Amino acid sequence: MKSLRTPLLCLAVGAAAALALRDRAGAQQVVEYKSGIVWPEPVVVTPGTDNGPPSDAVVLFDGKDLSKWNNGDRWVIKDGYAVAAKTGITTKDSFGDCQLHLEFASPEEARGKGQGRGNSGVYIMGRYEVQILDSFQNETYFDGQCGSLYKQHPPLVNACRKPGEWQTYDIIFESPRFEDKKLVRPGYVTVLHNGIVVQNHFELKGGTYYDRPAAYTPHGPKAPLNLQFHGDPVKFRNIWIRELKEMNPVSVPEKK
Ligand code: MG
Repeated sequence: MKSLRTPLLCLAVGAAAALALRDRAGAQQVVEYKSGIVWPEPVVVTPGTDNGPPSDAVVLFDGKDLSKWNNGDRWVIKDGYAVAAKTGITTKDSFGDCQLHLEFASPEEARGKGQGRGNSGVYIMGRYEVQILDSFQNETYFDGQCGSLYKQHPPLVNACRKPGEWQTYDIIFESPRFEDKKLVRPGYVTVLHNGIVVQNHFELKGGTYYDRPAAYTPHGPKAPLNLQFHGDPVKFRNIWIRELKEMNPVSVPEKK
């Protein structure tokens, strides 16, 4: 008799709990889950139109001048776009975790081949190159074609438009973290090329180099952005950037 008492008691308690989830009409009630975490209200940002900058973006090039870039006066500006020339250009401001939008066009006349056709690049933090190349019917090593993390990872697909056509890059970047000059978390890059994901939260192996393996060199949380001049008159327009900040809870309930 004693051995039956415990199971019977459990059945009774279970039935009571089940009853608690039903209202008087007998319909089952759904109990809302609440995490108990108190979040700050997300800031209101007005989206842009036609790939234009959202209200909280820093506009780095609006088609008129490159005054936010060192060496910006070395590039040619006309008809609302800038043409790479003479040297790379580097932002005067520094950026860390960010969302970057830019538009580029390979030279209409497809001269050269491989790495010699429409080469430029987005050097995030001046170290991590998202390759720009005319990869429309132009073979080269896969981890050096357009949309690659140079010599680290090929694009997932080749999303290149024809030479001369405007293309978009939307890049989401998480900076690597260093503590006491040691890497404690790698950097990550997501790239959309013409709206197509070509890098999906790729874990950076370090700086991107032509002549040596990728390697991290400790750096601060922010650094300037660089656009490469590689001898080709690649066009750029509509460049804007948003700094990304993690949202921290106002309070988190204590674990019981
Ligand atoms: Mg390049």
